Amino acid sequence: MELKSPPPVRRLTPGTPVTPLHVHGPANRTRPTVSSGNVQAAPVGVPPAALVAEPTAVVLPLAPRRAPSATIERMRIDNVTISYAGKPAVKDVSLPVRQGEVLAMIGPSGCGKTTLLRSLNRLTELTKSAKLEGQISLDGTDIATLEPTELRRRVTMVFQQPNPFPMSTFENVAYVLRDQAKRRPNKASLRPAVESALARAGLLEEVKDNLDHPALRLSGGQQQRLCIARALAADPEVLLLDEPCSALDPQSTKVIEELIVKLRQEVAIVIVTHNLQQAHRVADHVAFMYLGELVEYATAPALFARPREQRTKDYVGGAFG
Ligand code: ADP
Ligand code: MG
Repeated sequence: MELKSPPPVRRLTPGTPVTPLHVHGPANRTRPTVSSGNVQAAPVGVPPAALVAEPTAVVLPLAPRRAPSATIERMRIDNVTISYAGKPAVKDVSLPVRQGEVLAMIGPSGCGKTTLLRSLNRLTELTKSAKLEGQISLDGTDIATLEPTELRRRVTMVFQQPNPFPMSTFENVAYVLRDQAKRRPNKASLRPAVESALARAGLLEEVKDNLDHPALRLSGGQQQRLCIARALAADPEVLLLDEPCSALDPQSTKVIEELIVKLRQEVAIVIVTHNLQQAHRVADHVAFMYLGELVEYATAPALFARPREQRTKDYVGGAFG
């Protein structure tokens, strides 16, 4: 497949405002108003009755009702194929990634979810044998033309196992802020930004009385929210979550799922999960992958209640996985 010629390079430095190419109105790099110009209204959810009315319907608990949200396209995945040593792990996948919604990638182990997710901030290229064809763009710019560190600030990743740095809660977040600052800021001046990131990750209330507490002594769920706070401190446009709850207990999972739904207003969210119930609870759109192919992409209510493809029916019906 032929690569498209890349658009002009937009080199970015921290503090450079980025005008999303698909959005009209004043530039706001991190939280553009979703009510501005060129936005799409997200599809309104199918009424709950549809979940039981269809003969192919899958019996899942009803997803909590959520207000529909306006969306802005942040990333485009266009005809992406990723191979390891010549063997394709992701085959000709095209998908939009939008702020204002959660995109869940589901599918059985080994179907290419992590590979595709890691390609969104070019982590796959750290694997020597990996080769990507096709194009991925961020706000209209081919990510291949962006400086990787800057790309990874704008598209941040949270992994399956919480991985806070072995330092205090405060320093985990401050680390990112210091990294981005031109001059080394002192601790007091970082406090508002640290607290803001912790608040956005829904952790501040639990940790504010002792920000010097060692992060590794927090609970697993708190550690994962700290990792989300750390990712948000970089003020990303896109947050990538690779099975973020699979190491957590049900209560921590619930807290993080609620957080994900809330955060989708300010940052585009892509979550990889093999937990169908989780995808059903948090996702607006779902991409079902199988053996590297994108088998079906649809709104969450449609994909679970009225899957079009037999392979999707089998998977969401629990026939394989
Ligand atoms: P998933 O996240 O859906 O479980 P992955 O993206 O991890 O799937 O894997 C997709 C395919 O790519 C699998 O066949 C896996 O063995 C292969 N793969 C993943 N990472 C590597 C790697 N670093 N080197 C070689 N093959 C890999
Ligand atoms: Mg994976």
